[in-house]
Amino acid sequence: MSIVYDYFGGLYINLTNKCTNRCEFCIRNFTDSLGNADSLVLDRDPDVEEVKAELRKWKLSNYDEVVFCGYGEPTERLPELLELAKHIKAAYGKPIRINTNGLADLIWGEDTTAWLDGIIDSVSISLNEADAESYDRLCHPRFGIQSYDAILTYIKNVKKHVPNVAVSVVGGSITYSAIEQCRKIAEDLDVTFKVR
Ligand code: SF4
Repeated sequence: MSIVYDYFGGLYINLTNKCTNRCEFCIRNFTDSLGNADSLVLDRDPDVEEVKAELRKWKLSNYDEVVFCGYGEPTERLPELLELAKHIKAAYGKPIRINTNGLADLIWGEDTTAWLDGIIDSVSISLNEADAESYDRLCHPRFGIQSYDAILTYIKNVKKHVPNVAVSVVGGSITYSAIEQCRKIAEDLDVTFKVR
């Protein structure tokens, strides 16, 4: 199982396979690996010391940032993620990005965005659809229809604590009209918009 892997020149940490969602476009539905990873399917969640040991095998000076992404939702393990992020900044001086579905507050039952303050440099949030019903149909979140509004709230709040915030959609999985509506939502929230 691969805990740390290179994907198109970025260094990624695969902290968990747990996820709140069952997105119809999820890469996990199609392949077990990405980049130079052998398998991103984890037998178990790696502990913090195990991830630190894996990182020592890599030349971090070759990378511009370290990304928590994984084959699951990284904020399912937010306390461990933040402990590792602090370690990476202290030991290697690298900026940290989280790629997330934006549902951390529902996972942890509170506003988690302040937890990222001074630790996380960038957050990329998968918005995926233009309204709550469409999101529910496409992503099947375990929290149900409230999920979409929770993501919008997360985006608004995380901007107060993280310098770089982007939202994204998967181009091939929604209509052109939905992409443009999502672009408008991102503009109104004053965050970067990306089509993946
Ligand atoms: S949120 Fe991400 S990891 Fe989870 S099912 Fe959707 S695409 Fe896959």
